Amino acid sequence: MSIVNDPESPVYVPEENREIARERAGRHKQMISDYLQTGPTIPTGFNQWDRIQAQKHKILNVLGGTEADWADHTWHLSHSVRDTRTLARMLDLSGEEISDIEKTATQYRWQISPYYISLMHPDDRSCPIFRQSVPTIQEYLDPDESKDPYAIVYNSPAPLVTRLYPDRLIINVTNICAMFCRHCLRKKDISLKDMIYPREDIRTALDYVARCPEIRDVLITGGDALALSDDTIDWILTELDNIPHVEIKRLGSRMPAALPQRVTPRLCEILKRHKPVYLNTQFNHPLEVNPDSAGAVDLLIESGVVVGNQSVLLKGINADIHVMKKLVHELTRIRVRPYYIFNCKKLQGIRHFRASVGEGLNIMENLRGYTSGLAVPTFIITAPEGKGKTPMAPTYLLNHNRNGKLLFRTWAGEVCEYEDEGL
Ligand code: SF4
Repeated sequence: MSIVNDPESPVYVPEENREIARERAGRHKQMISDYLQTGPTIPTGFNQWDRIQAQKHKILNVLGGTEADWADHTWHLSHSVRDTRTLARMLDLSGEEISDIEKTATQYRWQISPYYISLMHPDDRSCPIFRQSVPTIQEYLDPDESKDPYAIVYNSPAPLVTRLYPDRLIINVTNICAMFCRHCLRKKDISLKDMIYPREDIRTALDYVARCPEIRDVLITGGDALALSDDTIDWILTELDNIPHVEIKRLGSRMPAALPQRVTPRLCEILKRHKPVYLNTQFNHPLEVNPDSAGAVDLLIESGVVVGNQSVLLKGINADIHVMKKLVHELTRIRVRPYYIFNCKKLQGIRHFRASVGEGLNIMENLRGYTSGLAVPTFIITAPEGKGKTPMAPTYLLNHNRNGKLLFRTWAGEVCEYEDEGL
């Protein structure tokens, strides 16, 4: 007799109990019925891959490039598009769009890698890839005066160092990125010319780390940490490995999403020598998750790098319960752990991207319990004046009695009591 039908077996379940479980499963399925309908209609890099390939060939024609060039990140960086004449040949820009881009460019730099342009829908101006990378007149017209969300003046105890927390800090090594995101909080820095900061300044920052035995975690970022040469990355990681109290190194890089060709076997050989290395990247829309970005993540993971994602909550891009759910699903499929969703700060030139904290909380409410906990990031607002990342979550705790009883609601809205220990 099958073990599941043996009433003496530990896995035996009576048929009436199975029926209850089936009804319950049906109710749970019903709770995600809207996503089951909408999810498959959301464009991703995988389901749009043929269109992306067609756009890639058009771009190669415009730039006179080859397949070998396309595979080479240095070609993308040297052929980054910075002028409307070239962009118009790839995207059929109208006269008004060209004039808006040029007007906005008088205040904010822009440049887009050919790779990132290939992800755009050429005729759709609401395309989330277009909106993240092509300047619009809304940036130019945003009068907000807030310019420095990190208040670096109070948080930089040594050159290039940003320190906001007890046991970890940031070393800013460059202001270069594969493209300039229109929602970037560092608009002020990228509005300067491209710079890899001198080794003597990075050395001063490393000396500060060496003098602080409580620092166990160092984040190398910019700009984009992978904008550095392989040799410079190797040098910095070697220096950090030589500081006994530094336990982990982190890299901040948008390359896996914006220019995955940068993740080369040679770079990964270097990273492999400096374990443990964590890399936090920034995918904001499922269209950025495609076979190329998945390949880059594979290389990183195979070299021992732990890859996480920090999205920015962006109106018109991912501030939507279904799009965000699709994004975290696509990320976990390629083995990137969704880590943070940042609320977009108030900053000159990016107001049109801002979603409210309430919208962010609603997204969290619709993730927790509705999908794998592994796919649920933490929603963060960054406190003013560099006072740190602060998690925001829906309220589940309803009451906490002194007699040790908790009253809470579940992800599905059921109110329960829980026996806790007394205070
Ligand atoms: S990659 Fe990061 S630092 Fe660079 S432009 Fe985008 S958001 Fe800003």
